[in-house]
Amino acid sequence: MENAEAPSPVLLVCEHASRRLPEKMGSLGLSPEALVSHIAWDPGALAVSQLLVKSLDAALIYQRFSRLVYDCNRPPDAEAAMPPVSEVFEIPGNAAISAAERLARTEALYVPFTDALSGFIATRKAHGRLPAMVTMHTFTPIYHGRKRDVEIGILHDEDSRLADAMLAAAGKTTRYAVRRNEPYGPADGVTHTLIKHGLKNGLLNVMIEIRNDLVSDEIGQRVMADYLTGLLGESLAALSQ
Ligand SMILES: [Zn+2]
Repeated sequence: MENAEAPSPVLLVCEHASRRLPEKMGSLGLSPEALVSHIAWDPGALAVSQLLVKSLDAALIYQRFSRLVYDCNRPPDAEAAMPPVSEVFEIPGNAAISAAERLARTEALYVPFTDALSGFIATRKAHGRLPAMVTMHTFTPIYHGRKRDVEIGILHDEDSRLADAMLAAAGKTTRYAVRRNEPYGPADGVTHTLIKHGLKNGLLNVMIEIRNDLVSDEIGQRVMADYLTGLLGESLAALSQ
């Protein structure tokens, strides 16, 4: 949690912020190459989120461990919470997880994360301030050998208010290729956090997916953060009118 007392309504969430594995997990049987790849984390997502913390004066909640251990954007009963395969990589350490191990990982990573989100939202609600939840992700430019043209995905589930406003604002320029529910959408199971914390609490909510080659260095991260600061500011202002 960063900047919990922030004045902005924006609550940034980063489920795939880190590629760190808890020491006792070892390497999960993965190569060093796989352990630093996009299957372990969303490269650049935390860096851009932390720039938005400053530019928007917003709060941020992020997971400190790799999604290879537990993917916090998935419920405990989903196989994808502890995936045995991710894109082209098999994850030996996730191939045959016992029920006890699943429970231990859920309690160690998912429960504290989701409780932190619930607690933050409940506290804000109690003070009459509904957060606008923005989950921050990055995606790989080449997936299963195919290049992706979309640069920024604006994803939503049933409540598209904030996504609609952002897409309208993005449509005023051609700076980035911004698309709705690409390269993933609700059918891919990626809207778990949006549903559990956003829709159930009536919050404005959106998931932002950035193609990770655009935020691979500090300059790219700053340019992207500036762009998203403008887009979010304009969209939230339009919705509050
Ligand atoms: Zn992600």
